[in-house]
Amino acid sequence: MSKNAVFDVIVIGGGHAGVEASAAAARMGARTLLLTQNIKTIGEMSCNPAIGGIGKSHLVAEVDALDGLMGRAADLAGIHFKTLNASKGPAVRAIRAQTDRELYKRAVKELLDQQENLIIVQQSVTDLIIKKSQIEGVITEPGEEFYSKAVVLTVGTFLAGVIHIGEQTSSGGRIGDRPAGPLADRLRSYPFKVGRLKTGTPPRIDGRSVDFSELEAQPGDDPRPLMSQISLLSDHPSQVPCHITHTNTKTHEIIKRNIHRSAMYSGSIKGVGPRYCPSIEDKVSRFRDKQTHQIFIEPEGLNTHELYPNGVSTSLPQDVQVDFIRTIKGFEKAEIIRPGYAIEYDYFDPRDLQYSLETKKIKGLFFAGQINGTTGYEEAAAQGLLAGVNASCLVQDKAPWEPKRDQAYMGVLIDDLINLGADEPYRMFTSRAEFRLRLREDNADQRLNEIGNTLGLIGDRRNSLYKEKMENMGALRKKFSKMIFRPGSESEGIIGFSLERESDVLSLMKRNDVSIEKLETLVKKKEIPILKQIEIEEKYAGYIKRQDLEIEKIRRHESMKIPESIDFTKIESLSAELREKLDIHRPKTLARASRIPGMTPAALSILLVQSKKNGGLKR
Ligand code: FAD
Repeated sequence: MSKNAVFDVIVIGGGHAGVEASAAAARMGARTLLLTQNIKTIGEMSCNPAIGGIGKSHLVAEVDALDGLMGRAADLAGIHFKTLNASKGPAVRAIRAQTDRELYKRAVKELLDQQENLIIVQQSVTDLIIKKSQIEGVITEPGEEFYSKAVVLTVGTFLAGVIHIGEQTSSGGRIGDRPAGPLADRLRSYPFKVGRLKTGTPPRIDGRSVDFSELEAQPGDDPRPLMSQISLLSDHPSQVPCHITHTNTKTHEIIKRNIHRSAMYSGSIKGVGPRYCPSIEDKVSRFRDKQTHQIFIEPEGLNTHELYPNGVSTSLPQDVQVDFIRTIKGFEKAEIIRPGYAIEYDYFDPRDLQYSLETKKIKGLFFAGQINGTTGYEEAAAQGLLAGVNASCLVQDKAPWEPKRDQAYMGVLIDDLINLGADEPYRMFTSRAEFRLRLREDNADQRLNEIGNTLGLIGDRRNSLYKEKMENMGALRKKFSKMIFRPGSESEGIIGFSLERESDVLSLMKRNDVSIEKLETLVKKKEIPILKQIEIEEKYAGYIKRQDLEIEKIRRHESMKIPESIDFTKIESLSAELREKLDIHRPKTLARASRIPGMTPAALSILLVQSKKNGGLKR
């Protein structure tokens, strides 16, 4: 065995999970090998070139707080930034960056190239070397062997991937890429529970054939948010607007008329698709009364005419795609560059994993990303980072890191997967986190910096910026706790109303009628971000206490029986999805209800109230 072929950690697959896994393992000092099918597709975004969004940006912030790549790459490639839910509470606010697909890949590759201890080799893995239920290494297509006691498998949608465009099917990992057939066969011979899932993507449109004067422009935010705590606004490339248009009854008629030709409806696809990213066929047939659906028109990059029409993912035949696209306002002469398609792939039941993402059956083998039944780049990146950390911990004889639900969205993600499995592609939402008031985007660094340092994940630059931020926050808090506003004084002019009694500014920040914009006059411009964070901490302290009590109450009532007489379909305060799932599963107790995939703490609270109302008894 050549010494060059022995590594501390091997990562298979250079997608979003694989790059974070390999970079994290290398940051922890493990000699790491990343084996991937094609170096040019490292960091490739299989679908929409966008990072973040509701729930997902929290994962990006956590990956970033642990010095991962995703946030930095999104800043280096982002061409349109928006804070979603900007008018709602800070716990559910979310940054979303539309990125330039090519710039994103380049940024990821450059960040990996700068990483010490990491070697990248372009080879497909066809087999695993396993002895006595312990991973020993991998075999690649040319027959080379690489050895390691810790292997992280992150092969996304590539395991036995089948692509569907209407009646046509072909095998592929995504369009233009080969599937991982031999590896899929091999994995099926091991005692893992395997299932099929599916996902889809819309056709890409040539921007030169679109009439933009008919579309509603949607500029990015000004000032722009940053996705990484260590990025600078000057890292952002040029910014461009997105646009909005809508489907109409003509579009829907064409889709309905041809629905039998959609791979999804002809019965050719068996896998379950993501409920939260339904195809246009799904939307038209499920929401029959809706006359129109919104479509976001998003650029694929600065140097391409390709547009991504977000909202019309489809597996209809190409001729039907052309027909329905041309019914849409502004798209009357649209040319399709690449057709939309659906893909079916193997995934493994994540209940066969430990919290560290190591498989229960084969020691040293970790799974991360889409193969665990999730969907989304951010979910993949978070799992990748965790698996890379724990693969390193394993070979360095350290205890694994298993984040808890009240510590990080990563903890929520892993806990949900390990306990509930994924009967449909799992994506993150803020509603999945019962401790969401604590788990904010803005405090990811405060939650995770210490553990990141204990693990050896965080570089000097981030640490010194973090230290500076915490010192500045401490100093500002101290200043505000000593700054007293008195009734009848000039300071009332700052807050804009009369005070009944004197108060320090820190205490005033707790009040909902004290707006942060007014207090901005008390600080330097560069202190505004930390001022906002202190405000959130002060305003939220009371709510967090209340939320903790609420969670405690649900835990105490876990054995509460749910009366059989309850008609779940009539509980309007629950989402349509949960009403449907509850009606199918008909849980007998709150504990059982809590294990239904997608069940949220807020929904459990509603069930608790309904059960009490309908005479539910404690067992
Ligand atoms: P991938 O990003 O798929 O990366 C897998 C990597 O493994 C690739 O680099 C591949 O080359 C490499 N690889 C595969 N086999 C081997 C092998 N044998 N040896 C070496 N390397 C190998 N997500 C959403 O959130 N919303 C959507 O609407 C959405 N739509 C999608 C539509 C399509 C058509 C596809 C394909 C995916 C879609 N996704 C969507 C999912 C999203 O792309 C994935 O969740 C994400 O890319 C998963 O990251 P990953 O790292 O697990 O896998």
